[in-house]
Amino acid sequence: MEDGLSFDISGARSALKDAGIVFKENVPAGDCTTFKTGGEISIVACPQTSQQYTACISTFKKNNVPFYILGNGSNLLVLDGGFHGVLVSTVQMDSVSVDGHLITALAGTRLKALVNASVRHGLTGLEFAGGIPGTVGGGVYMNAGAYDGELSDFIDSALVSDGDGNVKTLSNADLHLSYRHSRLMDEPLFLISCTFRLTSGDREASMEKVRRLNARRREKQPLEYPSAGSTFKRPEGHFAGALIEAAGMKGVSVGGAQVSEKHAGFIINKDNASASDIAALIEKVQQAVFRTSGVVLEPEVRMIGTEAKK
Ligand SMILES: Cc1cc2nc3c(=O)[nH]c(=O)nc-3n(C[C@H](O)[C@H](O)[C@H](O)COP(=O)(O)OP(=O)(O)OC[C@H]3O[C@@H](n4cnc5c(N)ncnc54)[C@H](O)[C@@H]3O)c2cc1C
Repeated sequence: MEDGLSFDISGARSALKDAGIVFKENVPAGDCTTFKTGGEISIVACPQTSQQYTACISTFKKNNVPFYILGNGSNLLVLDGGFHGVLVSTVQMDSVSVDGHLITALAGTRLKALVNASVRHGLTGLEFAGGIPGTVGGGVYMNAGAYDGELSDFIDSALVSDGDGNVKTLSNADLHLSYRHSRLMDEPLFLISCTFRLTSGDREASMEKVRRLNARRREKQPLEYPSAGSTFKRPEGHFAGALIEAAGMKGVSVGGAQVSEKHAGFIINKDNASASDIAALIEKVQQAVFRTSGVVLEPEVRMIGTEAKK
């Protein structure tokens, strides 16, 4: 759990102003996460170019300003005490270019936009990701996947900053990608852009696949409520949803948070849940599943910030 306790907010403010980077202060986490809840974030900075992005990361790292990268916030829970530091949002860094079978997108590009661009160019492979509501940066960090694919199957290389002013290209192998894991989780490496290697396909067939998978999501997932998608990783040899259901936790609530009745793998913000309702329900589900099956469920959702003062 990341936790910036106290930091030089005026220093961070001046650095952002000097670099011409747009930022907002005291932003409710509900405004920038799909859980639509959580405490306040001291500063959300929105670099518009990769130069601004790498420069502000280096400045914050050098000056020990606590910072964290924010994509679309679709896999993030900010605890109720808030995040005392800077969230560096990538969402303004959004562009896609195509060169033969290679398609390159900046970190803040929505996966949906990447998939649409690939399909428009008659390229196939990424259709599985068309309904994942994250960015390319969050997708690579998480090695996002669905149905029959994972981003790792198609990543050619990634451009990353190490926060010390160095930008390097990492190959697919260098990224140490595995199920919902990448090297970006283990080291201070910040994705600038990613290049995917696809194959030539049939545009109509690709569009049809995206439509079919999106319809399947709408049918099976509680998309009408705020959530972060699947709350837990799939434990080897099991399905989290089935274990949760077998533990009698489907539909169980803590405050306004509920284990979805439509899909037990999702914890939803059903009715003005606080982040601590969600965190408490995550723990309750883990305990119940461990008691009934002996399986340890590991959250897929990332948590940052501090608990609210009691
Ligand atoms: C309704 C719903 C359905 C979902 N379905 C799926 C699914 O089918 N498959 C799946 O895998 N996930 C799914 N998710 C979860 C989520 O969309 C993915 O994990 C997605 O990849 C997160 O991307 P993001 O941009 O929102 O990342 P964020 O939530 O903003 O961040 C997630 C993590 O990535 C890091 N990060 C973000 N950008 C960068 C960067 N540029 N450099 C370094 N680190 C970075 C953040 O610091 C954070 O640790 C779903 C979520 C929802 C709400």
